[in-house]
Amino acid sequence: KVRVRFAPSPTGPLHIGGVRTALFNYLFAKKNGGDFILRIEDTDQSRYVEGAEDYLVEALNWCNILYDEGPGKEGDIGPYRQSERKHLYREYAEKLIASGNAYYAFDTSEALDAHRKDHEEKGKTFIYNWHNRLKLDNSLALSSEEVNKKLEAGVPYVIRFKIPEAETLELNDEIRGEMQIETKVLDDKVLFKSDGMPTYHLANIVDDHLMEITHVIRGEEWLPSLALHELLYRAFDWQAPKFAHLPLILKPQGKGKLSKRDGDKLGFPVFPLEWKDPNSGEISSGYREEGYFPEAVINMLAFLGWNEGGGSEKEIYSLKELIQAFSLEHVSKGGSKFDPEKTKWFQHHYLQEAKDEVLAKQLKVLLAEKNLDFTQEYLVKVVSLLKERASFVRDFWDLGFYFFVAPEKYDEKAAKKAWKEDTADLMKQLIAELEKIEDFSTSTLQENIKAWITEKEIGFGKIMQPFRLSLVGAMQGPDVFEIASAIGKKQTVSRIERAVR
Ligand code: GLU
Repeated sequence: KVRVRFAPSPTGPLHIGGVRTALFNYLFAKKNGGDFILRIEDTDQSRYVEGAEDYLVEALNWCNILYDEGPGKEGDIGPYRQSERKHLYREYAEKLIASGNAYYAFDTSEALDAHRKDHEEKGKTFIYNWHNRLKLDNSLALSSEEVNKKLEAGVPYVIRFKIPEAETLELNDEIRGEMQIETKVLDDKVLFKSDGMPTYHLANIVDDHLMEITHVIRGEEWLPSLALHELLYRAFDWQAPKFAHLPLILKPQGKGKLSKRDGDKLGFPVFPLEWKDPNSGEISSGYREEGYFPEAVINMLAFLGWNEGGGSEKEIYSLKELIQAFSLEHVSKGGSKFDPEKTKWFQHHYLQEAKDEVLAKQLKVLLAEKNLDFTQEYLVKVVSLLKERASFVRDFWDLGFYFFVAPEKYDEKAAKKAWKEDTADLMKQLIAELEKIEDFSTSTLQENIKAWITEKEIGFGKIMQPFRLSLVGAMQGPDVFEIASAIGKKQTVSRIERAVR
């Protein structure tokens, strides 16, 4: 059975690239009838950020990327937080020592710094591996008595992986294909730290194995770790999962990787939800708070490095359709540009698809914040009139505030054009006409007022323009009769009276 995992470290808010990784894992799992697991990689206590885990669970839920197993949804092989599994890892590190694949290293950080400096001065880079491991302070270089003495005396140590000296590794990536790497350039990475915690590499491999992960789908930044990870599987004599490294997400201009900082600089969110940094108090905007629908965000993310292929030009995909269509073969190798405008385009589409009743409910919440209250029926009407031009629920206010409050000022340019010497008089006559109309429906209004204008033999514009200006405050909005009918006779008349004054 296919089992994949999303394994973020709670070191800050989950950014949009992380959501994409989660999404692709989820799609792959669901496409193949498998499980999607959430594992929290929190072994680096120094980088732990308060609230980051809650944030990421909330973000995945908002996006509808629901996990089958994870914190709060324990399966058979939990727990799903590495900090709750820490008793597990030492045993595995020791297994590698016993099999000759890892060793104790006692070098202090001062000693390592000195080696680095020494190398630098000679124009070389210090790599802790076969080059020099026998000259350093570790169990490969020392006699077993010396090692035991140090261990008994409680000298702090780390456990390092012993990278084979000269081997050509054949690696395979589901997206990139075959790769070769020479082990002689790799360093003996630390697997277990002196604080008793495993490093990412050890914990990640042990957990992927114990959690029976079949496919590791993760960001391209982990590609350099692939060789080490394959070697670790081999050293444990475990079957390695298949690997797929997702392409980078690039800045909208296409130059360089999209960073957590780009959003606020360029004016678009790079986080799914708003995030308040617990230390600095700084707030970063999120798609949810900006008014995006999760469907739009998901649809946008799906296209960051994937398309259905086969010449398909389909762009709108529901989550269900994405599951149907997804495959790793159609994930690209090259980076893909982040496109905030396209996200807006998706959002506009999904707002058009949303039911007027649903949008009206959301609009009601927004109006309540302004201490305004209208019936659901009225809001449905307003939504239907404005929807075509709206992309966000807040647009109903921006485009149609005059459905809720009388305009306080009139657009100057428009007023100059529309308001002539005889306008006040004409508007008074219009009021008189309007007062006569019993049934204030759009069609009756239109018929009566048009007939009246025709009879008067004055241009339509002379009435319609100041009429609109009185109701809206500007030359915008849907059909004036629609507006008048919606706000009702009393409001219509009082707005014209106010404009005449
Ligand atoms: N904890 C790693 C991260 O934060 C996981 C990498 C992986 O998926 O192997 O991205």
